[in-house]
Amino acid sequence: MTTGALDRKPVLKPGATIGILGGGQLGRMLALAAARLGLNCHIYAPEKDSCAFEVARRATCAPYEDASALRRFAEAVDVVTYEFENVPAKTAAFLERRRPVLPDPKVLETTQDRLIEKDFLRDLGIATAPYAPVHSATQLAEGIAKVGLPAVLKTRRFGYDGKGQAKLERNVDPIRTWRSLHNAPCILEAFIAFEREISVIAARSRDGRVECFEVTENEHRDHILKTSTVPARVTPALAAEASRIAARIAGAFDYVGVLAVEMFVVRKAGKRQVLVNEIAPRVHNSGHWTIDGATVSQFEQHIRAIAGWPLARPVRLGRKVEMINLIGEEVSEASRYLTLPNTAVHVYGKGRASPRRKMGHVTRIWPAR
Ligand code: AMP
Repeated sequence: MTTGALDRKPVLKPGATIGILGGGQLGRMLALAAARLGLNCHIYAPEKDSCAFEVARRATCAPYEDASALRRFAEAVDVVTYEFENVPAKTAAFLERRRPVLPDPKVLETTQDRLIEKDFLRDLGIATAPYAPVHSATQLAEGIAKVGLPAVLKTRRFGYDGKGQAKLERNVDPIRTWRSLHNAPCILEAFIAFEREISVIAARSRDGRVECFEVTENEHRDHILKTSTVPARVTPALAAEASRIAARIAGAFDYVGVLAVEMFVVRKAGKRQVLVNEIAPRVHNSGHWTIDGATVSQFEQHIRAIAGWPLARPVRLGRKVEMINLIGEEVSEASRYLTLPNTAVHVYGKGRASPRRKMGHVTRIWPAR
């Protein structure tokens, strides 16, 4: 990064305003963390019922393509950040011409596309599942020959929580599976029989310092994160390797803010190894435990980083911390957790509890003995 680019980014003073693109629970928790530090937030989101609106000083409800709303938003904030990775490239470019946008939206070009992301990791020498591009029936056959079966076919863009994904089993017509994804440009990945899933949440400051939260172990149910637990059941050497990988990725992007790296732990010839599955250029669900379970939260670290403030060194509170997502109707169980000791309840204030919607979470802390 040039000094010129750094100069354009003011160190925020208390009372300054952070613009956040996206109004979901991540935006909401970012705004709450900013408020604690004396910073204001202005949320920009197209959905009327965005749950971040009600905890921020200002809100703009407008489409991401609305140039005049975006212009007014840019004029009202000191720095812009985002809580989701599918920010349209044009929106990011429009805002970047007017205000610093952090993390740098060039990161989105890589992370919005699973194939570009995997190539980026390969070029850094970071291990992933074997993969192949699928843009035609011929490439699908070539991909299967390369990565083997079973495999996972994923759309290159706009996939999340298992959406835009289908498993390719032996004895099933692969073309039919691809058709179920509307023949969209895809990536074919070898199906990984992982031992466990982990993630690293890393924060990187403007001066290039990196602070990683402790490696988190994640369990998914029906492709949606259900629980995150720390400490993860991994050796110190593997945890150090996972953190090194996350720091390496953040450094390669010249990243400012918090990013999450999701990984598989696999056993190969008796040795454990990590494979990177996905990079999320934002705060992440598997880091929610840090709000109540660590001395600094991922949300505060992100705000500190983009404000140009020093990062904190995170320390876990308690000997074990577990985060449980409340999905869909499970949010009605929130009241059950209210009476448990060492338990924090978070309800996002979203409207309808539709079946796969993340409605809240609970954090349980096992106190140090
Ligand atoms: P993703 O949308 O890529 O984060 O995938 C969502 C979840 O699907 C992951 O957290 C894994 O549980 C599972 N998954 C994704 N890719 C693979 C793979 N190549 N092999 C096995 N499981 C996978």
